[in-house]
Amino acid sequence: MAKRQLLRRKRVLVTGGAGFLGSFLCERLLAEGYDVLCADNFFTGTRDNIASMLGHQRFELLRHDVTFPLYVEVDEIYNLACPASPIHYQHDPVQTTKTSVHGAINMLGLAKRTGARILQASTSEIYGDPEVHPQREEYWGRVNPIGPRSCYDEGKRCAETLFFDYRRQHRLPIKVARIFNTYGPRMQPDDGRVVSNFIIQALRDEPITIYGDGQQTRSFCYVEDMIDGLVRLMETPDEVTGPVNLGNPVEFTMLELAEAVIELTGSSSKLEYRPLPQDDPRQRRPDISLARQELGWQPEVPLKDGLVRTVAYFRNLMKLGGVPA
Ligand code: NAD
Ligand code: UDP
Ligand code: UDP
Repeated sequence: MAKRQLLRRKRVLVTGGAGFLGSFLCERLLAEGYDVLCADNFFTGTRDNIASMLGHQRFELLRHDVTFPLYVEVDEIYNLACPASPIHYQHDPVQTTKTSVHGAINMLGLAKRTGARILQASTSEIYGDPEVHPQREEYWGRVNPIGPRSCYDEGKRCAETLFFDYRRQHRLPIKVARIFNTYGPRMQPDDGRVVSNFIIQALRDEPITIYGDGQQTRSFCYVEDMIDGLVRLMETPDEVTGPVNLGNPVEFTMLELAEAVIELTGSSSKLEYRPLPQDDPRQRRPDISLARQELGWQPEVPLKDGLVRTVAYFRNLMKLGGVPA
């Protein structure tokens, strides 16, 4: 057999690979020389997100819903499939829970059969509306099990449970990343997330919609930093399973975010107050000591710099007519 065949390139499956984070992850993995298999049902992902990769020799696209079994041969799996914004995950909440739970079972079954390493894109939402601040991985969270956000939060919690049970029962090499709010180019213009909403409103000189009093906090991580954290986590030795918080520990109120966006865009937008959605967490900031220690990772892009790049993306998208009215 030729040496070329023996030294086979690693084949990586990215579920949700046509989404916001998934598409950046696929690009990064291609650049590192992997064969990339992107599986997506295009619920919130788009072909535009992966357009730059479609002709690439080492990139393969599969239209697939992870709630159904998938039989492919892979060495690593990044399980990102799941709508992430409240508008999208509440659109069909039963499907959201199925995606997290059945999706995790299928991808873990695939990992078990192929011996692949598998990484779960979990979320800071598993902490719910936290009484501990900042959030450390040891904190068990405060999640409403029956509210409108529960399909996402509890689905993701159950997925974590499945990952750790497959580890205990079948010795799978698992990695669980708890991702905190991430932003950047390719966020969907209509998914209602705060960064995209504020930027689009500011670029149109329309009122900036502040939910509640605007004193609630979030900590925003730029997408490239996040992808770097995910790849580093996958590369850790088998004994490192996580869960590991990945996010930017610099915390802002929504009012501060609105001011930053207005300033960067030179907008004449005014603030408009709207009711706070049910179960909206009051504060959220990751403690990233574990990521620093185990992955040697911390975010490098400050909010202002990341916002400049994101504003440029949305400005261009609006010029192309890609933002619905
Ligand atoms: P996204 O909505 O842009 O991407 C999700 C992708 O999954 C989309 O391409 C969508 O079409 C696909 N998908 C949804 N259901 C599917 C199914 N049943 N089968 C196959 N594909 C399916 O969201 P994102 O921001 O890129 O998030 C990616 C992952 O990271 C998600 O699992 C999300 O929960 C997690 N996460 C994201 C953030 C964030 O701030 N962006 C924060 C915490 C966790
Ligand atoms: N599965 C899959 N691809 C595979 C192997 C399994 O999608 O390559 C799915 C399969 O449909 C099963 C699930 O993963 O329902 C869990 O697999 P596991 O082997 O853990 O459970 P079992 O098949 O014993 O129910
Ligand atoms: N938010 C806001 N105005 C908007 C959209 C969101 O004030 O137009 C608030 C929202 O209530 C929440 C925060 O911004 O407190 C972050 O919302 P997002 O949906 O982006 O993320 P998540 O709540 O899932 O962390």
